[in-house]
Amino acid sequence: MMQLVVATQNQGKLKEIRRVLANGGIEVVGMEAFSDLIPAEEDGETFADNAHKKALAIARQTGKLCLADDSGLTVAALNGRPGVYSARYAGEDATDAQNNALLIKELAGVSEDRRQAAFCCVMALCTPDDNCQLFEGRIEGRILDQVKGTGGFGYDPLFFVESHGCTMAELPLDEKNRISHRGQALQKVVVALKSL
Ligand code: IMP
Repeated sequence: MMQLVVATQNQGKLKEIRRVLANGGIEVVGMEAFSDLIPAEEDGETFADNAHKKALAIARQTGKLCLADDSGLTVAALNGRPGVYSARYAGEDATDAQNNALLIKELAGVSEDRRQAAFCCVMALCTPDDNCQLFEGRIEGRILDQVKGTGGFGYDPLFFVESHGCTMAELPLDEKNRISHRGQALQKVVVALKSL
């Protein structure tokens, strides 16, 4: 079975990535399989910059083909924020609950028809010598004024998916992966890996 190092410490992402890649016949090796890995600083201005930096840093340190995800939520009424700062929206070590609480607060009083948002994901697949490919995915939705559902992670309980009539946190893992920004990018990664 083909193996791939996945450069993420986000357990929510890792679970989703592991499932799609396993279905594609690819075994995921986590960062914990190596000692003393130093993750890249996420100081890029775009999802693509950060995904590339993260994948390349770990590919160089492990000497192996590596996949990284940079993703986030863009909210139209907030001019695209939190965007690349999604993980740190409410502060450097913010929890998902704190980020969600801030999002509810910032959108208080905004009417339903002005609550459009999108989850975006860029995945970078890099070799240690910086041969990199990027893969993207995006899903549109609407931000609710209270959390709903217990699945997924991050902003999932606030992200309403019109086509399914529920939040991302109410979808089973396989259904989230079938439609989500990350799932879309991952499906392209599987195709690319199969042609290697
Ligand atoms: P980063 O890619 O590590 O910079 O962080 C991505 C952040 O975006 C996460 O910590 C979440 O807050 C948010 N995010 C990305 N993908 C998802 C998702 O699938 N569901 C909910 N939140 C997400």
